[in-house]
Amino acid sequence: MCLNERRVCECGRQDAYLIFRDNLLSPEILVNLYCPECSARVRLDRDTMLQDCGWVLEYDLEGAQGLLARQGVTGTVTPEFLFDAGYLTWQGLSPGDHDVNHDLHRRLAPLVEADLTLYLQSLKSEWLEYVAGLKAAGWRKAQAT
Ligand SMILES: [Zn+2]
Repeated sequence: MCLNERRVCECGRQDAYLIFRDNLLSPEILVNLYCPECSARVRLDRDTMLQDCGWVLEYDLEGAQGLLARQGVTGTVTPEFLFDAGYLTWQGLSPGDHDVNHDLHRRLAPLVEADLTLYLQSLKSEWLEYVAGLKAAGWRKAQAT
C-alpha cells in the first residue's frame, strides 16, 4: 500500500496530492512545497530541490537516505531519485491529477446508465487528451508516458 497525502504549498494558495511508494518515507521528508506562485521567491538549490513546471519540491535528503537505507534501499539519494522512483512524488502525473480525475468521473457520470460503452470510451479519450496536455506542458512524470 502507498500512503497518499494532500499537501498545501508554502503560500497556501494551492495544494498537491502526493504519494509515497511502499510507505518508506514520511511526509516530513518533503521539507517544503512551493507552487508556481510561491516558488518564484525561492532560490533553486539543485542538491535538495526538484523543479517541475514551476512547482518546487524541497527534500530532506539526509532523512530520506536514512529511512531508505534502513529498509534496504541503497544508492545515492537525490531529489530526482526520490521523485522518479516514486518514493515521494505527485500522485498521478502532476499535483492536480486527483481532482481532475474526480471531476472527469463526476462530469461523465450521467452517461453510466445512458450508454456505458460511450462512458468508458469518453473516460479513456478525455484522460488521454489530458495526459497529452501534461506531456506537452513539460510535466516531468508525463514525459515517460
Ligand atoms: Zn504557493
